Amino acid sequence: MDFEGLGDVLRYMHGLGFKARPTKNGVRRFLGILKSTAGPVPIELAIADWDFLVYPTIRITEKPSFLPIRMAHGVVGGDFCYLAEGSVVLDRYNPTGAIAFCLQQATSLIDQLISNPTQSQTDMQAEFQSYWAGSSLGTLLPIGLSELSSELDEAKAYKLSPKGPFGDIITTSKEALDRVALSWGASAQLLEAQSCWLLRTTAAPDMSSALPWTVKETLAWLKTWDRSLYAALQKRIEADTSILDLSRIYILIDSPAGWIGFGFSVNKRYLTKATTKGAAGSRKFAGKAYFQYLHRFGGSDKIFRLLTTNLSSDFVHTRNLSGSLKNGLSGLKIALLGCGSVGGYVAQALTRLGAGTDGGQLTLIDNQFLQPENIGRHALGFNALLKRKSNALKDELDLQFPYSNIESRPIAITPKLDYSSFDLIINATGEEPLSEMLNALRISNEGTFPPILHAWIKGNGECVQALWTDSLKHGCFRCLRRHEPGSEMAERFKVLKNEVEKGFRACQHFTPYAVSASLSAAALVADMLIDWKKNGSPSPRFRTRAVENADTFKIKNQDITPLSGCPACGTK
Ligand SMILES: [Zn+2]
Repeated sequence: MDFEGLGDVLRYMHGLGFKARPTKNGVRRFLGILKSTAGPVPIELAIADWDFLVYPTIRITEKPSFLPIRMAHGVVGGDFCYLAEGSVVLDRYNPTGAIAFCLQQATSLIDQLISNPTQSQTDMQAEFQSYWAGSSLGTLLPIGLSELSSELDEAKAYKLSPKGPFGDIITTSKEALDRVALSWGASAQLLEAQSCWLLRTTAAPDMSSALPWTVKETLAWLKTWDRSLYAALQKRIEADTSILDLSRIYILIDSPAGWIGFGFSVNKRYLTKATTKGAAGSRKFAGKAYFQYLHRFGGSDKIFRLLTTNLSSDFVHTRNLSGSLKNGLSGLKIALLGCGSVGGYVAQALTRLGAGTDGGQLTLIDNQFLQPENIGRHALGFNALLKRKSNALKDELDLQFPYSNIESRPIAITPKLDYSSFDLIINATGEEPLSEMLNALRISNEGTFPPILHAWIKGNGECVQALWTDSLKHGCFRCLRRHEPGSEMAERFKVLKNEVEKGFRACQHFTPYAVSASLSAAALVADMLIDWKKNGSPSPRFRTRAVENADTFKIKNQDITPLSGCPACGTK
């Protein structure tokens, strides 16, 4: 592809002493030298995409002797990773500058890795999985890892039928796997005669020599990596008298580089020899004898490496969260009151943040049925019509997030419910009398009642608001309305400038607003929960989020003070 600016690039490359190679399939290639501090490194630079959606590739054409055999970021094995994918935007309008930047990045990475071998080693360990699964010299077996309890040292392997997206699955919890399988429309069956041992180490995997492909190499590798790991495996093999009943053994190691897995089959010839001696003979061939066999004749048997995909709840729900928010909403008992246009999306957000996992529970309370007029602004659609909103939402979320413990209670929200059993109540009903009822309950049970997060849509969606109530030190829900003679119920923080447009259908009124308002309210709830978990405080407790072009009064986000004479929280 030729374009304006190509001439500049060619002149620039020429100036750097790079030689252009024939263009192939639109890919421009240049051969030249990177001037690292340790010496010249011959490379090939290839540019396939002048929009820079894909970065130019850099490959070392001949390894200089001063570079180690193995380096992090694939420096000495094919195209190397001098820029993490998506980490910078290369300027398509300044291709010369972009290429100069790439060459400079590559040079400084090589300099860094040479001057700091420990860093190179650490980086390599972090990339371990790609080295482990990146080789084509042996068998790679894709396998999914569902829940793996840190308390157990043995897991089981399961086959899914119909086949799942990640191959067979290893887990310590059949119950959790059943739920995951269900979400794929599959069922899980135990793979007979296959055992999976779980080992653990705090040491990063050894990468000082080539990674193993045979049983013998693997045993030696484990010994160098972490002697206690090797000893643990030895103990397992020697103690397992029924090991010869297995056809295949998986070993999964929980390490700082994630789960590292491999496996091997019990050698058929060895098995035949053992079993011809009868049951007693078979036992004699197991244990210590088998471990010795693995070191000697069985050592040349090939292992297969596991290409693992982590499907655990912990990984799925907290991968996108940072630092102090690491556990998200896991372990909490949360009640969501109202599964309507706001509540539906709130439930979606809560499950994504880990609600209902790790011993927690998300309880959806709403007794209404989903009607055709709801679905234009609801998280649910046609397939849920005329179902109870809470039931349909649970069914949907069960499929999306099978690890989450979600309970549906299609009942009326009354003062009689046992609210004190929850850690948090989210009121997404948008109904003021109901909100007042909850508010009064909380105040009369101050100290034992969980915090309530009220969220609602204002007017025709001009803005959304939320109030977190957890203490009489701050204003309550009713403190949002004045209590003065002549202006009872007048808003304390007036936000809307214009009249609200109402709709009527038969004897019911409704307020028209679009799905964007529901989404915005759910996002506000999610943000307040994130602040609460991250900072230990939901402050500012009263928040208003307005649509950019809505004509509203600006309201400060704040912890509101109790209103003197408030009929709900004022001293009587
Ligand atoms: Zn009050």
